[in-house]
Amino acid sequence: MRRSFSKTDAERFFALLRTAEPEPKTELRYLNAFTLLVAVVLSAQATDRSVNKATAGLFELADTPGKMAALGEEIIAHHIRTIGLYRTKAKNVAALSRALIEQHHGEVPRDRAALEALPGVGRKTANVVLNVAFGEPTIAVDTHIFRVANRTGLAPGKTPLAVEMGLERIVPAAYRQQAHHWLILHGRYVCMARKPHCPVCTVRGLCRFEAKTAEPGTADGTLEGRGARTRRGAFALDNTAEPVKPRTQKAKAQRRKVHRAKRA
Ligand code: SF4
Repeated sequence: MRRSFSKTDAERFFALLRTAEPEPKTELRYLNAFTLLVAVVLSAQATDRSVNKATAGLFELADTPGKMAALGEEIIAHHIRTIGLYRTKAKNVAALSRALIEQHHGEVPRDRAALEALPGVGRKTANVVLNVAFGEPTIAVDTHIFRVANRTGLAPGKTPLAVEMGLERIVPAAYRQQAHHWLILHGRYVCMARKPHCPVCTVRGLCRFEAKTAEPGTADGTLEGRGARTRRGAFALDNTAEPVKPRTQKAKAQRRKVHRAKRA
């Protein structure tokens, strides 16, 4: 049976993530609380990159509920047509804009129940908005956080809500505000679903995952002269690695020879 995380382990876990990325931020682009809300609604089952691409033009035209409602569902749909479920999402964005005007004087409410009552807004979206726009120490459990919390043993749970509750119990107060960003970035760039980068993972020593991946060419998968191969080097332990030796002249010549032969 896996050893559960103690408070001290959790403290060390987040201290390591903080050292690797002192100021984690959402990768969604937004201009204010309203555009953040819209971006998060659009991000369901879509990548942040695809949402940012779609919202660049949309937010230029409409950065308030009034302007968005005036655009209407068809024009919103046209702008976000490159992301999945765009018709339903356009309908929700138009409806939530009208609801904000009619029920909240055009402002995004700082209240979970009021947020969750908006079309297309669930607990996860409400948590992101409360955290990023209003500085509340909420933790929005998305697919990355769900995986990292279960895999590492930090906060195991069968549902996103169970994981959220577990994280609220274990994450030290000093790290609560940023925990959601650290865990998302860690899941997105290091502890990936199919092949986590365990050999260069900054929290490897604390992680309880029994099937940690090994770096090719090393006996146990620990750092042995390999730099990080993650998209965000900041989350990897490449600063402690020995420099990778450059290829010898002989090896380079051999590779050139093989390459020429293939092309002939
Ligand atoms: S050691 Fe591997 S499984 Fe554990 S958190 Fe790091 S990348 Fe994920």
